[in-house]
Amino acid sequence: MKKDKILVIGACGQIGVELTLTLRKIYGDTNVVASDLREEHELLKGSGPYVSLDVMNKEMLHVLVIRHNITQIYLLAAILSATGEKNPLLAWHINMQSLLNVLDIAKEEGLDKVYWPSSIAVFGPNSPKETTPQHTVIEPTTIYGISKFAGERWCEYYNHRYGVDVRSLRYPGLISYKSAPGGGTTDYAIEIFHEAQEEKKYTCFLSEDTYLPMMYMPDAIRATIELMEAEQPKISVRSSYNLGAMSFSPKEIAAEIKKHIPDFTISYQSDYRQQIADGWPKSINDELARKDWGWKPDYDLPKMVTDMLKNL
Ligand code: NAD
Repeated sequence: MKKDKILVIGACGQIGVELTLTLRKIYGDTNVVASDLREEHELLKGSGPYVSLDVMNKEMLHVLVIRHNITQIYLLAAILSATGEKNPLLAWHINMQSLLNVLDIAKEEGLDKVYWPSSIAVFGPNSPKETTPQHTVIEPTTIYGISKFAGERWCEYYNHRYGVDVRSLRYPGLISYKSAPGGGTTDYAIEIFHEAQEEKKYTCFLSEDTYLPMMYMPDAIRATIELMEAEQPKISVRSSYNLGAMSFSPKEIAAEIKKHIPDFTISYQSDYRQQIADGWPKSINDELARKDWGWKPDYDLPKMVTDMLKNL
């Protein structure tokens, strides 16, 4: 068992629940402190320590880090892409200040490591759409993307200037069944499963040929832990790594679901999220993650759909 003491911030969200449970298996239940604004998630109850925390309150966070002898922080609290467009100033404020609070405490307390996720939303309409490279035009047009891009620069700055060992991944859209998604543009790829099972029909808020990079949650959790456990010299990217697994359109995922639920039908009614999706890459080049720390996804579209329908 390892000696690290981990704080997960935003532990009750789509990623946080599964990441917390996995970290507890690796590091020991009592060594992973879960925290969130919300009430403790049902799946976390009884699995380890839980504290109520507003990450915007730097003093409270600082006290928590000292009191629990925290050595690593995973910061997952954020306002996501679709929700962010409804209140851009709030999204900017929360996404930036939460990261600055964590980075600064990591610097002051000499924490071992920090994890903070970025997103494919850092790319914009002028970025190459197919197999988007790590280093390319980055001109995000959503406030979420702008805040993630600025966050990446802060991570690299704290690493280069103060030696904070902060690591980051640009997640694609994440698909999971354990905890609900938190207001992103790729949420359709989760809703579709629930509607297919319950109603046998789904109206998609993106058009049928909108290709987006996606990943199944077990791959995202494994990537996160593999990155965090990689030896320091292997980490050549201190902003955020491109990370890929699969790319599909609503039409393609619907066809795959139909193989399991033959009477399932899909219709399309684009809303404001279409514009967000249209600015993002269709697929991602993640060769640096593969080269530096050996990233390799397990799940493609058919394997993910089979597993989702089995577990929902
Ligand atoms: P989510 O919205 O499901 O969860 C975020 C959690 O943070 C929520 O439980 C919320 O209550 C908590 N939170 C919000 N404000 C807080 C505050 N002030 N103090 C403490 N907790 C607070 O989000 P998620 O999907 O789990 O995403 C986690 C991270 O991964 C975010 O940074 C997000 O941008 C990034 N990401 C997610 C996806 C995806 O598809 N889910 C894709 C790319 C990047």
